[in-house]
Amino acid sequence: MMNEHGDISRTLLAWYDRCARTMPWRGIHDPYRTWVSETMLQQTRVETVLPFYERFLDRFPTLMDLAAADESDVLKMWEGLGYYSRARNLRKGALQVAEQYGGLLPRDPAILRKISGIGPYTAGAIASIAYDVPVPAVDGNVIRVLSRLFGIRENAALPEIRKKLERLASALVPEHRPGDHNQAVMDLGATVCVPGTPDCSRCPLSAYCDAFARGDAAELPVLPRSRPQKTEYWTVMVLRAGDCTLVRRRTESLLHGLWCFPMMEGAPEDALRKLAKQAHMPCRSAGCPCSARHVFTHLIWEMTILPLETDPDQPPPGDYIWLPWQQLSSLTFPAAMNAALRAADHLFSR
Ligand code: SF4
Repeated sequence: MMNEHGDISRTLLAWYDRCARTMPWRGIHDPYRTWVSETMLQQTRVETVLPFYERFLDRFPTLMDLAAADESDVLKMWEGLGYYSRARNLRKGALQVAEQYGGLLPRDPAILRKISGIGPYTAGAIASIAYDVPVPAVDGNVIRVLSRLFGIRENAALPEIRKKLERLASALVPEHRPGDHNQAVMDLGATVCVPGTPDCSRCPLSAYCDAFARGDAAELPVLPRSRPQKTEYWTVMVLRAGDCTLVRRRTESLLHGLWCFPMMEGAPEDALRKLAKQAHMPCRSAGCPCSARHVFTHLIWEMTILPLETDPDQPPPGDYIWLPWQQLSSLTFPAAMNAALRAADHLFSR
């Protein structure tokens, strides 16, 4: 088995030398850049990440620059990339590294995992890619490749099966070029051993692959069905009072720290009634409502966007503020608010 593992790794590295995807974070040994790239790549495609990566590193070229930054600046640089908790944790982690490790990310994966925003996968990626530590970096892509390669036909979400896959991943990592090996597995999972039907005819590992031999690669890995997404119905109110609009910075865990227009769950009539009652703010319609939908991982927001007008000098309710509408672009809004921002542009530029 050990020899076979060695053969697999050598074959994979030879394939990587021929076919590796070119990416700006490759070919460098800079743990901060590896951390930023791996964080951005979570749940996000490489093509999407590329412009954000360049822009983020122009603004925060070193870990100490990131540690010294305001959270609102970091969120602004992340605007449009989604999953904003990644940006908040990255900044928090940078502060921790600045304070506890003199600004240099540790090389030990067990210590890396204690840093905010660094889980087992990212710790493995940083240690192997930036420091040549022979440890695996196991994510969903790797689980898929290894389940097929070694014919693991049990539920990969079960802790004992996950552990088995992690042991296999560890056994495959070579002492020499562990970072390249891990990136080769990632590339294979992203370009050849893809979800659904893999392209086995192009795969360098087909001679070793159990699922290829048995013809059931498309059924692996075995994973429990994901739960259906919950749908919530919201009314988003784009409110104009003179030159100002009403906004608030979210304190909820979803989209925490990002800016939103007033939102109430339920149909527009109920939302307007609640606004008049709770905020003592009578409003009148200022345009046609429109609908928008935003899909999160486990949740869908179906939104009705209402352009409204109220009288100036109304006190803002709760944690809302009146903001001159020209300043909206200086705040970080989540993509879920894109349709409402367009409605605001329309409302104020009439
Ligand atoms: Fe994946 Fe097919 Fe390669 Fe096996 S042979 S690792 S299933 S692409």
